[in-house]
Amino acid sequence: MISFNVPPFIGTELTYVKEAIDAHKICGDGRFTKNCHSFIEERFGAQKALLTTSGTSALEMATLLCGLKAGDEVIVPSFTFSSTATAIVLTGATPVFADIRPDTMNLDEAIIEDAVTERTKAIMAVHYAGVACEMDTILDIAARHGLKVIEDAAQGVMSFYKGRALGTIGDFGCYSFHETKNYSMGEGGALVIRDPENNDAAEILREKGTNRARFFRGQVDKYTWVDYGSSYLPSDMNAAYLWAQLLEADRINENRLAIWNTYHEAFSPLAAAGRIEVPFIPEGCVHNAHMYYIKLRDLAERTAFIRYLKERGIVAVFHYIPLHSAPAGLRFGRFAGEDRYTTSESDRLVRLPLYYGLTPEEQAFVIRTAMEYFDENP
Ligand SMILES: *Cc1c(COP(=O)(O)O)cnc(C)c1O
Repeated sequence: MISFNVPPFIGTELTYVKEAIDAHKICGDGRFTKNCHSFIEERFGAQKALLTTSGTSALEMATLLCGLKAGDEVIVPSFTFSSTATAIVLTGATPVFADIRPDTMNLDEAIIEDAVTERTKAIMAVHYAGVACEMDTILDIAARHGLKVIEDAAQGVMSFYKGRALGTIGDFGCYSFHETKNYSMGEGGALVIRDPENNDAAEILREKGTNRARFFRGQVDKYTWVDYGSSYLPSDMNAAYLWAQLLEADRINENRLAIWNTYHEAFSPLAAAGRIEVPFIPEGCVHNAHMYYIKLRDLAERTAFIRYLKERGIVAVFHYIPLHSAPAGLRFGRFAGEDRYTTSESDRLVRLPLYYGLTPEEQAFVIRTAMEYFDENP
């Protein structure tokens, strides 16, 4: 049986988790949390990184720090995980869903401007599969209309756009370290902040509305409740688990890329023949092999293909039910313009097993089985 995902495990995680426990420092912002912050800041050129309890909470911090409120609108793809939209709804603002490009499944930068109204306050750019949105165009639209840009880079850790790490390009970037992502701490995430003027507000929001971070740095002589806040900092035990993986980030990344490339070589001939579609990586984008997907003819074929693999011991999955057609999407949001690709493309997409440590034999079996399906169903 070949799973769709196995959480990354390097082997040194327990050593660091034990160190955190032995140091009697298992609450937030201990040594391992600081190590992870420094890694993200140095490796990705991030002005400031803060670990969070999830990618979802990083997105919530971002929408709150943007000062969104009832009546505001945020442009967001409908083809994304619920968290992207729910972080908008938390502030009272309205998610305005816009269509995607069929080649990358990312927000179509060419139609964003049509969705802008006088209520629009931000654009939420989701880097699907760790492949960057067309950020130059998005930043240009944002600058001309005075909008904030939040990057949902949950899938984009270790991906780049024109040399810049995803998550560091917009006003705020949000990473996920969920067990299904490339680097993991079980449940966790990080917020990346571009402008230093947002640092204090972010620390206060993350630390229950207190100025504790400034107090620990000796910048104020007592710490107190200064603003609205919540608890968005993870335990240092979780950070220790993540730290083990960040130290081996290149090894994990290279392993995933090798698997991705093997799939791509195997499936590209079928794509060239027009039988299926495979992912497209635009020029200037360096991706992190977060996922490998193929697109089949339609929903019926996808269902048949997933069943075919399952009967042979392989778990392949699909996502997302477009948010604008989901019960909460209907209640909280609206679709701007025409749904040309969101629904039709999401119906056809299937993700193949891809995780750190998937063996060449297992992958060969997945490819062989998929090829048998296409032989039997030309
Ligand atoms: C995984 C994911 C999230 C949520 O991250 P969690 O850490 O699970 O809260 C948000 N957006 C996208 C696009 C994701 O893939």
